[in-house]
Amino acid sequence: MDLQEHVLWLSRQPRVQDIWRYLDKVLADILASAVLIQQIPAPTFRELVRANHVLSCFGSCGLVDTGIDSLYNVYGRLPGQDPSAPALLISAHTDTVFPEGTDLALRHENGSRIAGPGIADNSLGVAALVATADIMRQFRIEPERDIWFLANSREEGLGDLGGIRAFYEQHGHRLGRAIVVEGLTLGRIYHRGIAVRRLHVATYAEGGHSWQQFGRPSAIHHLLLLGARLVQLKPPEKPRTTYNIGIIQGGQSVNSLATSASFYMDLRSEDPQTLRELETTVREIIASESDRVEGIDVTVDVVGDRPSGGIGADHELVRGAAAALRAVDLDCQLQAGSTDANLLLDRGLPAVTIGLTTGGNTHRVDEYINTEPLVKGMRQLILLALAGAGWEPPSEEL
Ligand SMILES: [Zn+2]
Repeated sequence: MDLQEHVLWLSRQPRVQDIWRYLDKVLADILASAVLIQQIPAPTFRELVRANHVLSCFGSCGLVDTGIDSLYNVYGRLPGQDPSAPALLISAHTDTVFPEGTDLALRHENGSRIAGPGIADNSLGVAALVATADIMRQFRIEPERDIWFLANSREEGLGDLGGIRAFYEQHGHRLGRAIVVEGLTLGRIYHRGIAVRRLHVATYAEGGHSWQQFGRPSAIHHLLLLGARLVQLKPPEKPRTTYNIGIIQGGQSVNSLATSASFYMDLRSEDPQTLRELETTVREIIASESDRVEGIDVTVDVVGDRPSGGIGADHELVRGAAAALRAVDLDCQLQAGSTDANLLLDRGLPAVTIGLTTGGNTHRVDEYINTEPLVKGMRQLILLALAGAGWEPPSEEL
């Protein structure tokens, strides 16, 4: 039985119907758990408090070999019958894009929507990870192979996939396939990684008084000039290629010529070669605009480099993920994305990223999830996890 057949076969087993009845009863608890996780601030690099909470959840789920590493990755293992068989990894990132001090208040709308920073990306994903482990304990699931549960740090922004990278370096040799869980985009299967490069562009000048030294170079004026040139770039639509200047900072006071200024620029493409060309163009523009200016120094540093990679639409893991959606009556869309799976795919581990529900406004404070589709999202995840780890209901239970 291949993975696709296994998923569809499992979806018809009486024991799995029991799991669905149990899932219906705990759906409200899963949402409450997502809210609890969301209320713990976890900006990238500062995930420790949230990580400790998840660690205690993993303990209550009966996972073994639980721990937390120096990057605040939290992990635990559900033992399989054959510990030497390549394990299944299920991961969800704990970090959020919201800085310390963000108001994390949530709004519950009509009982069908929850809105607030990080609820979708990725508190719900982490809650689903814990719930999956808990359901496996409730039903005494003993899969063929080990399942590693990982709530990893450093997925967002300048985290640069550092959490999953560190975990993979330590444990990658034990893994055979991976499911990466995100709160939104139910119905999509990401099986290819979008390559990302992130640049920090900084300008420096001598500075001076805005009135007395008017006419001397200013780090901010020059940075604005560079930005104005760069935002006129028109990258190709196919392969889809984008850029964004997402953070800009600099200067000392309104009446000083700025001595330093900088911005962060994010470049992405479905095609690594096109991305390299875009970065070359960006660097050429910066160089040509800066070479003829006296008294300005410019530096360009790479602060993010997300590898790309992928598995084909006909890979058994992609077909298995599609079957899990079909088993819950959902259509599936195959896509390229930028998630922790990029790193795994680049290292050669088959991986898919799947979603749990619908919603929107990701990375904004009014980010939201719709609660009603979660039941299908959870069923999909559980089916793929059970089949992915080679579980079959014990025969006396059939
Ligand atoms: Zn995310």
